[in-house]
Amino acid sequence: MLFCFSCVSVNTQMEMSLLTTTPTHSSVSSRLLRLSLFLLLSLPDSTGKAIWTAHLNITFQVGNRIISKLGESGVFGNHSPLERVSGAVALPDTWNQNACNPMTNFSRPEQAETWLALIERGGCTFTHKINVAAEKGANGVIIYNYPGTGNKVFPMSHQGTDNIVAVMIGNLKGLELLHLIQKGVSVTIIIEVGRMHMPWLSHCVMSLITFLAASIAYLFLYCAWRPRVPNSSTRRRRQIKADVKKAIAELQLRVLKEGDKELDPNEESCVICFDIYKPKDVVRILNCKHFFHEACIDPWLLAHRTCPMCKCDILKA
Ligand SMILES: [Zn+2]
Ligand SMILES: [Zn+2]
Repeated sequence: MLFCFSCVSVNTQMEMSLLTTTPTHSSVSSRLLRLSLFLLLSLPDSTGKAIWTAHLNITFQVGNRIISKLGESGVFGNHSPLERVSGAVALPDTWNQNACNPMTNFSRPEQAETWLALIERGGCTFTHKINVAAEKGANGVIIYNYPGTGNKVFPMSHQGTDNIVAVMIGNLKGLELLHLIQKGVSVTIIIEVGRMHMPWLSHCVMSLITFLAASIAYLFLYCAWRPRVPNSSTRRRRQIKADVKKAIAELQLRVLKEGDKELDPNEESCVICFDIYKPKDVVRILNCKHFFHEACIDPWLLAHRTCPMCKCDILKA
């Protein structure tokens, strides 16, 4: 739900790698190799830190009604103790809300035993503003993000703050609290430790899924575009067919004309089409001296290789 902006760009690049895959072996394998290297290089190191969300239980009074809201609306800072803390919310008592001035006082309710400083991000480091609030006795610090960032949050880095709880909340949530308090509403918050997130773990899972998808796509493409290497029996069949074609081409052709003895009605007709021979018919004469219409015998020989009358093999003859 939160953070992990780097994951988004990583995944986008992976998708691009898949989408731009082209259907040739060399390009597919080189792209797969590049993708694998990219994934290996983009794996996080062992120092990848877990992110802890913070539940904010917000209570305030409107008229006679006490309103309570609970939500997982923040994240603990990287250097914050993971502890439950509660108190009345106090604002910097200055014209701005960033608490960068070391003299900043907070408008804490007098009756409150514990209080939490609500501070706007910006103007100085997180460490600086957290320490300003800590020096004034705050029990915890809530920092809300820049204007225009909606509900986006991230784990702050604030090395050098003492043992004080610091959480970040979204700008919208921060302004909501700010406006309530500025209207004179007393707001109390209980910060509780929420859940742990491992952004780099989901990164690894995504990387693995993408890698598997790329491998499957590669195998699919390899099978689809694999060069068709004919096996030995296919090669032999092709060779025989070529030899038969060559043998047919070498057989004699003749155009029948008036007076040829083949045109005698008592002579045999073509045994393939059963038609009698006529002048101008083209006939193919086999080595066995049997002859047939060229249009009839050529397809027959291609299929059978032998004379339809005497079974003589044209390749052996
Ligand atoms: Zn015929
Ligand atoms: Zn024959």
